[in-house]
Amino acid sequence: MSQHAVIAGGGLAGMAATIALLDSGWTVTMCESRRRLGGRASSFHDQQTGETLDNCQHVLLGCCTNLMDLYTRLDTADDINWYDSTWWARGDGRDDQMQSGLLPAPLHQAWSLLRMKGLPWRIRLQVGQAGLRMLRMGLKGRRVWQDRTGIQLLEHLGQDETAQRLFWDPIIVSALNMPLAEVAASHVLHVMQEGFLAGKSHARMGVPMVPLDTLYSHFIDRIDNATESVRFGTKVTGIGIENGRAIGLETNQDFIRGDVVVLALPWEKLDAITTPAQKEMDRRLQGLHALGHSPILGVHIFLDRQVLQRPHLVLPGRSTQWLFNKGVNQQGHQHLHAVISAADEWMDLDEAAITKRVTEDLIWACPNAHAAELISMRPVKERRATFRATPEAERVRPYATPNRVGNNGGDIESLFLAGDYCRTGWPATMEGAVRSGYLAAEAITNTTVLVDDCPTGWLVNLLSGSQ
Ligand SMILES: Cc1cc2nc3c(=O)[nH]c(=O)nc-3n(C[C@H](O)[C@H](O)[C@H](O)COP(=O)(O)OP(=O)(O)OC[C@H]3O[C@@H](n4cnc5c(N)ncnc54)[C@H](O)[C@@H]3O)c2cc1C
Repeated sequence: MSQHAVIAGGGLAGMAATIALLDSGWTVTMCESRRRLGGRASSFHDQQTGETLDNCQHVLLGCCTNLMDLYTRLDTADDINWYDSTWWARGDGRDDQMQSGLLPAPLHQAWSLLRMKGLPWRIRLQVGQAGLRMLRMGLKGRRVWQDRTGIQLLEHLGQDETAQRLFWDPIIVSALNMPLAEVAASHVLHVMQEGFLAGKSHARMGVPMVPLDTLYSHFIDRIDNATESVRFGTKVTGIGIENGRAIGLETNQDFIRGDVVVLALPWEKLDAITTPAQKEMDRRLQGLHALGHSPILGVHIFLDRQVLQRPHLVLPGRSTQWLFNKGVNQQGHQHLHAVISAADEWMDLDEAAITKRVTEDLIWACPNAHAAELISMRPVKERRATFRATPEAERVRPYATPNRVGNNGGDIESLFLAGDYCRTGWPATMEGAVRSGYLAAEAITNTTVLVDDCPTGWLVNLLSGSQ
C-alpha cells in the first residue's frame, strides 16, 4: 500500500512537494486555508475592473530550472514568454536595450552595457568591472561575504553612489526585495553569478502570459479523488506528535493522519501553529521570527490609450523600479503594471498618494502618458511579500529535513518543512519555493527530485575557477 503525506499550504512550495510525491507513488492530502492555489503568487477577481489580476507581476529567469520543471509537470511551461532583452528608460521617452549578444558568457551583455546611453560612461565601465570581479569571486566569495551587506560588497567593488542608484538598485532591489544597505552580500553574488553572468540562457527573463492562477489550473487534474485530495478552506491549526514523531495535522475541521507531514506555510504561520514544547523539540522551529518581512507594492494601471510599446521598462533612479506592459484591449485601453520592491515607505500611503507618485514615475518613463487619461489605478500592498534577506536571516533559515542529532534526541521525526524561507541557497523567490518543496520530497522518497542547473559557459568556468 502506498504511503500517505499530509501537506499544509497550497503555494508553490506545497504544490511542488505534492506533485513530486505523487510522481513517486505517494498519496497526498493537501490543506489550503484559502479557496485558491498559489499563495503569494496568485490572482484575484477585481470587482472594480471585473478582471482577473495577479497580486503582482511575477517574473523568473532562465536559471529557475526547478520552477520550469514544475510548470512542465503542470503542462503550463508554454505559458511563459521569454525575453533576451531588458529595456531601460532614459527619462526622455527613449530607452536602452540590455541584451545578450554574440560574445560568450560572461561577456554576453557587455556590448549592450557599453552602449547604454542612460548611464554615464564611467558607470558602464564600473558596472562591467564589478560583474567580472563578482564572477571571479565564485562560491567561495559567497561564503566569505556571508556576514556582510550588499552595499559593503558594492563599495568594495568600487561602485559609487550613482552606479548603486542607476544600476544596482533596479536589479538587486527587485530581485531580492531588500534595500542594498540591508540585503546579504551573498545573495547579491548569487543573483549576479547565477542569474546574469553564468550563461546566456540563465539571464533570459520569463514573464507569464496568463494570470498566475492559470499556471496552476492542471494541478487539481493530478489528484486522484479516490485516495487524494486538496482541501480548500481548511486551516491547519497544529501538528499532531506522538513519541517524537509527526503523525498528522490538526485543522479547523478534523485531524488528518499521515505517514509524513510537510509544512509548506509562510514562516510566520508555521511559527504561530507550533507550541513552545514543539519548538523546544525541533531546532528548525526556533528563531523563525528573526526572518522578518519585506513588502512589495504592485500597481495595476489602466489608461485610455497605449503609452508603452515595449514589453517592459526598467526605471533607473526612480521609486517605481519596473513597468510591465499587460496589453491593450479592444477599446485601445492599455493595462500596465508597476512594481515597487522593498516598499516599506509606501505601506502607509493611501491610494491617492500612491497614484500621484506612480503617475510621476510613469510620465518620467513614458512622457506621452502625460496626455493619457487614467481610467483606474489598483494598488496591491503585500506587507509580507518575502522574508528580509539579511545576513542574520541566513543563519536561521531551516533545513527541510529533521536532523537526527539534537539537544533532545533530534528534531521531530517525519516532519518536513518547505517554503521560500527554507535553506535552499536561493533568495525568497518562486524558484526557491519550488526547490524547497522538491527538497522535502527528495528527503521523504530518498530519490532525486531537484533538476540540474543550466550549464555554465566555458569562459565562465575558466574565469570562476570551476571545472
Ligand atoms: C508582491 C510579490 C511579488 C513577487 N514577485 C516575485 C517575482 O517576480 N519572482 C519571484 O520569483 N518571486 C516573487 N515573489 C516571491 C514569491 O511569490 C514567493 O517566494 C513564493 O510564491 C512563496 O511560495 P511559498 O509556497 O513558499 O509560500 P506561499 O505562497 O505563502 O504559500 C503558503 C500557502 O499556505 C497557505 N496557508 C497559510 N496559513 C495556512 C494554514 N494555517 N493552513 C493552511 N494553509 C495555510 C497560504 O494561503 C498559502 O497558499 C513575489 C512575492 C510577492 C508577494
